[in-house]
Amino acid sequence: MSAFDAPQFTDETKAREYLEAIRWPDGPVCPHCGSLEGAYRLEGKKHRPGLLKCKDCREQFSVTVGTVFERSKIPLTKWVLATHLMCSSKKGISSHQIARTLGVTYKTAWFMTHRIREAMAPAKDAGPLGGEGKTVEADETYLSKSPKTRKPAGLPLGAKPAPQVFSLVERGGNVRSMYLDDKNIRGALVQHLHEASRLVTDGSNVYKAQVVNHESVDHSKYEWARGDVHTNTLENFFSIFKRGLIGTYQHMDKKHLNRYLAEFDFRRNNRVKLGINDAQRTAIALKGIEGKRLTYRSPDETQTAPLTQG
Ligand SMILES: [Zn+2]
Repeated sequence: MSAFDAPQFTDETKAREYLEAIRWPDGPVCPHCGSLEGAYRLEGKKHRPGLLKCKDCREQFSVTVGTVFERSKIPLTKWVLATHLMCSSKKGISSHQIARTLGVTYKTAWFMTHRIREAMAPAKDAGPLGGEGKTVEADETYLSKSPKTRKPAGLPLGAKPAPQVFSLVERGGNVRSMYLDDKNIRGALVQHLHEASRLVTDGSNVYKAQVVNHESVDHSKYEWARGDVHTNTLENFFSIFKRGLIGTYQHMDKKHLNRYLAEFDFRRNNRVKLGINDAQRTAIALKGIEGKRLTYRSPDETQTAPLTQG
């Protein structure tokens, strides 16, 4: 039996039960009023499967209401399989591959993968990385196949600079990456680095005078590490997502870059070395489908349904 034959990937009822067990380990929670014990199931042919009704607020809901899976007619078996595929491939999986495996159109696969990336993104209240006694590495990199467009300085006339990515990683903790478009590194440090952290970077001027507790190595003087002052953790991470982004996501649009970065951050923060297997990583991603702000809609209105359809 292959992993794809697991019941939650082939049977819609099993998929719903699987998702309910992940989202509601202690029983259904009403997404409308937050009631923990007021819900009962609406059974019978009159109701679509998986529908519940809250005794407290009288509203109906299903396991996908209030999640990034809401308002889609895509079967849950396909949602959980797509999530599993994205969580179990180290360098990512293209929407074309998802489309072939699930038997859906490319457009639908694209829509699904972006919603799943939203689920993988950190919670809005995740807070800064680091803290007292914690060491955080910071570094930037340019996403380009061509060395000519990597650095803004010395660009050929008319060439656009490659997208710049900025990452922070707490040693022994999580990585967080972002596309630096209009935001600068100073702003990113204020938002994402706990001020009590010790920051280690390369010799780039942008970090000077930003953080009190700051040490750097000077790559221009061939100094790559001095004791534990180095950015090797991020160099390794950058090489993984560059191979993934350039190899798998050939038509990546800059405006979606933050969601791709969230996907790579998520897999790294929930990696095998931490004892997290593919099934557990999938469950962690599925827990994240709730309460995420949606920044885009389905590309195809025929795929959406009224709110109550869940
Ligand atoms: Zn309620």
